[in-house]
Amino acid sequence: MLAPVSSVAGGHDLSQVAVTFDDGPEPSVTPPLLELLARHEVRCTFFLLVKQAEQHPDLVRAVVEAGHEIALHGLDHRPLPPMGHRGAYRYLREAKARLEAVAQVPVHWYRPPYGKQSVRSWAAARRAGLDVVVWSADAADWEDLDVAAVVELAHVRLAGGGVLLLHERLEPGPAGEPVESHLDRVEMVERVLTDLGGRGLRPVTVGDLARRARRTAWFR
Ligand SMILES: [Zn+2]
Repeated sequence: MLAPVSSVAGGHDLSQVAVTFDDGPEPSVTPPLLELLARHEVRCTFFLLVKQAEQHPDLVRAVVEAGHEIALHGLDHRPLPPMGHRGAYRYLREAKARLEAVAQVPVHWYRPPYGKQSVRSWAAARRAGLDVVVWSADAADWEDLDVAAVVELAHVRLAGGGVLLLHERLEPGPAGEPVESHLDRVEMVERVLTDLGGRGLRPVTVGDLARRARRTAWFR
């Protein structure tokens, strides 16, 4: 049994999927994205960076007030494994407290940047009161693809019960190098949601999907 040392990667209700957004909030994307999600009557999970959340607390509040789920992606975008257990624990404890202070709601889920996780960093997340969420489908919206290619990847890779990884913003690389993506992210989400609707897959939050969670041992 791998369950005791595992991360959420999906759910057992195959009529549902969780659509998730990393690296935000982002002033040019979050407001129109919220409008789109409201129009589709869909609730999603936003894995936020504390440095972005503290710069844009109004956007975080808007996400909460629209009924979406707030989750943690880090203070910044640093991977945890090089920090060791104690360093990762302190980092996550601080990040959770600061995100909760902005969002004014409890934060339960954490997604590791780049999906990088060691047994020590996983244990640190648990000790900090967080449960780790990974993904089952990466639509590669962080690569230099056009909307049609991302929508096609989401269609092919995401199955019922899965967790779709998307980005409302792309964090620049470690040296601040700009990201090579010119996607219209709102149009991308619109077309992904239309595709999911056509397949009879209902988007829900990670919290809803994980009521009957599928878990995996994810260390990389
Ligand atoms: Zn990220």
